Amino acid sequence: MNELALFNLLLVSWFVLGLPVFIALFFYTAPYGRHNRRGWGFQINSRLGWVLMEAPSAVGMVILFALGNKQHNLTAIIFLIMWEAHYLQRAFIFPFLIREKQKKMPISIVLMSVVFNGMNVYLNGRYLFYFASDYPSGWFSSLPFILGFALFIFGYFINRQSDQHLRTLRSDGSTTYKIPVKGLFRQVSCPNYFGEIIEWLGWAIATWSFAGACFAFWTIVNLAPRAKSHHQWYQEAFDEYPPERKALIPWLW
Ligand code: NDP
Repeated sequence: MNELALFNLLLVSWFVLGLPVFIALFFYTAPYGRHNRRGWGFQINSRLGWVLMEAPSAVGMVILFALGNKQHNLTAIIFLIMWEAHYLQRAFIFPFLIREKQKKMPISIVLMSVVFNGMNVYLNGRYLFYFASDYPSGWFSSLPFILGFALFIFGYFINRQSDQHLRTLRSDGSTTYKIPVKGLFRQVSCPNYFGEIIEWLGWAIATWSFAGACFAFWTIVNLAPRAKSHHQWYQEAFDEYPPERKALIPWLW
């Protein structure tokens, strides 16, 4: 089997696998953060866990760019910059901004995330930098790119701003949970997840690729059930939790 056949098989299989995982995650919440629990292998420091989980995406994309055939293609370079704008922050800055230094997560979550990120970076990077035909020179003024890029930036901003607000809740050195009250938290319990989903939907549209769509789908697979779990957790933990607040999508769900 040549690499393109293998790539296509992986891409379709990965997409199809997303559906049962999506359903399963509504019943089994991934055990990290407030949902951490025993029985998922030994626990490692969360900061280290985040670096190990996310570094493959940041480093892998650069390697795939170097191994590809589009080093002189401006569109490919822009896609690389978009990806790295997210993943350099997520892998090498976000972990060190986490307030609680002693927090732990199970090794099984780290290993599953390495597989998840490895698959996504391979499918996106290999497609964009090797298998894709060259994007036309006018791609930057095309509707998919303009719309997708705008959504990516919008989602990026919401995600960063929301993660930042969560950090300020522990700026007093506490390790407990409080009710977030700023920005899009007034509408939903998990605006950071909402922003992340918008970001990768934007990516899918800007790249106009099945690999990008598959990654956006998997982001929803991971984050929609988790937003529901977070939302329920907040409602059970705080009697005064705002009843009008939704889980993930402002005013809707
Ligand atoms: P959470 O919102 O669960 O937590 C983010 C951080 O804020 C954690 O350090 C958490 O602490 C802290 N925190 C959360 N809520 C509160 C609160 N009410 N009071 C005080 N502190 C709080 O996000 P995740 O950890 O699940 O994800 C982090 C980032 O990674 C997000 O931006 C998310 O979008 C992204 N992500 C992306 C995925 C994808 O598939 N693309 C998958 C998973 C995450 P603690 O750890 O103690 O709970």
